[in-house]
Amino acid sequence: MSSITKEKVISALKTVYDPDLKRDLVTLNMVKDVQINSAEINVSIELTTPACPLKDKIKQDCIDAIKKEIPTAQKVSVTLSSNVRYSLGQGKNEILPGVKNTIAVASGKGGVGKSTVAVNMAVALAKEGAKVGLIDADIYGPSVPLMLGINGKPKIYQDTATAKMVPLENFGIKVMSIGFLIDDDAPVIWRGPMASGAIKQFMSDVRWEELDYLVFDLPPGTGDIQLTLVQTIPLSGAVVVTTPQDVSLIDVKKAIRMFQRVNVPILGIVENMSYFIAPDTGKKYYIFGSGGGEKLAKELSVPLLGSIPINQNIREGGDNGKPIVFESPETEESKKIFEISRNLAAQISINTLSSKTSKIEILMGDDN
Ligand code: ADP
Repeated sequence: MSSITKEKVISALKTVYDPDLKRDLVTLNMVKDVQINSAEINVSIELTTPACPLKDKIKQDCIDAIKKEIPTAQKVSVTLSSNVRYSLGQGKNEILPGVKNTIAVASGKGGVGKSTVAVNMAVALAKEGAKVGLIDADIYGPSVPLMLGINGKPKIYQDTATAKMVPLENFGIKVMSIGFLIDDDAPVIWRGPMASGAIKQFMSDVRWEELDYLVFDLPPGTGDIQLTLVQTIPLSGAVVVTTPQDVSLIDVKKAIRMFQRVNVPILGIVENMSYFIAPDTGKKYYIFGSGGGEKLAKELSVPLLGSIPINQNIREGGDNGKPIVFESPETEESKKIFEISRNLAAQISINTLSSKTSKIEILMGDDN
């Protein structure tokens, strides 16, 4: 059995590619350990996100490649772990030093399901094992507290130098909302001017600690408030939610242009309310038309992260404060949302790798 060497295992792993990042696992510095015990081999692979959409494939590809290179191996196993990277560079984000990635969820107009998507995506990422925070910046209708069944006021954490708000928690995510701080009947005219101030405070005066992903549920639309917010928040990228119908797609183009104007990468489009499956007959209906999101994604050269059906359980989960991905993760509609979250996490890893500074960090084996 002396023919089994670490070098041979590494050479086998050089042939295994991360399908999203399009490089081999050795170059990506994902191989963290190789253990050889007689004819048994175990390799430890560190992914760039716990929500990696292709983790099962990567695992199987490693096993196949090692068995091919070393036919005498009797047992090959792979241990997967993950380490989310800083898309903005470690230490670059001074207001949120422990936050690795910031994601804005936006929409061209209200009522398309932006908050529903933001909440469920955040909970789905946390269920995959990521550390997730959610900032409800929707000043017109902060619905996140209701959708996550959270009410109350944030406690204050005081140490010797500073006092910070402690985010509220439910379903494994940390949450701050405008709704925790202002009355529901406060006039909209007063909300606007205070919005960017409040959002700044949510970043600088909240004890977020370490987070892999911090999701911002932005107000709908593309007015001055949105533009100010987008420029206030140090963003890894934006997700834009739309329904498939034309009128919504026109608005979504405006939203995408707004982000592009301030150099925020578009991580992808989510098409919500894409279709309805009648529970009694199983027949599929395209209530708002079909293919709109896909067409738009192609036209603007941005990824389509996925589509979500109209479904009573999604609406009820929102109204009852029990997100569907937590309450019924095995349903078709939850699986669609998990798929979208994984595609989002993968897109962030791809963008991180393709930005020059991060490429150097990763190739040099930075352990952040
Ligand atoms: P927005 O943030 O875009 O204004 P919301 O997320 O508040 O939209 O959603 C508006 C309403 O539509 C809510 O009652 C929500 O429960 C419902 N809703 C959103 N997405 C779906 C869906 N896929 N299926 C059923 N109801 C949905």
